[in-house]
Amino acid sequence: MATIAFIGLGNMGGPMAANLAQAGHNVNAFDLSGAALNQAVEAGCNAADSAQHAVRGADFVISMLPAGKHVEALFVSGEQPLFDLIDSSALVIDSSTIDADTARRVAAAGAEKGIGFIDAPVSGGVGGAKAGTLTFIVGGEAAQFERAQPILACMGKNIFHAGETGAGQIAKVCNNMLLGILMAGTCEALSMGMKNGLDPKVLSDIMKQSSGNNWALQVYNPVPGVMDGVPASRDYEGGFMVDLMFKDLGLAMEVSQQSASATPMGSAARALFNLHKSNGNGGLDFSSLIRLYQSAE
Ligand code: NAD
Repeated sequence: MATIAFIGLGNMGGPMAANLAQAGHNVNAFDLSGAALNQAVEAGCNAADSAQHAVRGADFVISMLPAGKHVEALFVSGEQPLFDLIDSSALVIDSSTIDADTARRVAAAGAEKGIGFIDAPVSGGVGGAKAGTLTFIVGGEAAQFERAQPILACMGKNIFHAGETGAGQIAKVCNNMLLGILMAGTCEALSMGMKNGLDPKVLSDIMKQSSGNNWALQVYNPVPGVMDGVPASRDYEGGFMVDLMFKDLGLAMEVSQQSASATPMGSAARALFNLHKSNGNGGLDFSSLIRLYQSAE
């Protein structure tokens, strides 16, 4: 069994660390939030009092942080950067969704110290993190991918090698741009149906068996009361925050600009989530976008 440092125990990182501990690994966990750290300890992790302490003697270091600036500061540019402390035999796995350029920069800084780094963002949401069924989308060398696989398999079901360093983040951002578009489209269709007197549960069942079927309708319905156990059924608490979806759509727009790719739908989705965020909803789950449609009625 491996010794694993796990940094960032939020909505996603908490259950991911718990699954590693349940698989028998020795997980030294750290989060800036004491409440998140306590939950990880209840789930079988050891509490570290800093990220620097967590990485001592680790075979693997996993980070699950909000954005690129947090990842770069932690490993490279902050006070006591972890690349000064991590053993060169360890492999760093960053599962945060960040821009590919930062992932490549951090990987290069690790390589200068002989430390391996892969980008391994995930898809599958908090439900997938809890159930251990996440999809991992890895960018890095083939040997690093092979080495990470048994660890990722404790947290996920589908593990893909997208290509070289940064490729995992590019694939992830393509997926999340599509997710933002399909969630907006699902909110739009359900709102129009409800405005015309349809029961949202009946309409959802119809569309799930029709050509409009999609992931939001299947496992993440945005209308309260249609589906149990989703953020819509608990006032949009937990889940995947509007702030994070807005960040991911911004990353998609950067990739679009750098590669001169046409992304009019991604751009429209970003504008919708921007409006919703600027109405004070950044901390809610992203399926709360349906409120934007309902407030427009
Ligand atoms: P979150 O805000 O719930 O968790 C982030 C955690 O990182 C927080 O607990 C915070 O205290 C901690 N943190 C921040 N800086 C830190 C530091 N320097 N040291 C230690 N801890 C620190 O976010 P989340 O929903 O868990 O998402 C994490 C990442 O995963 C994001 O990049 C997000 O885009 C991505 N993601 C989220 C989902 C989802 O459904 N929530 C799905 C796929 C990918």
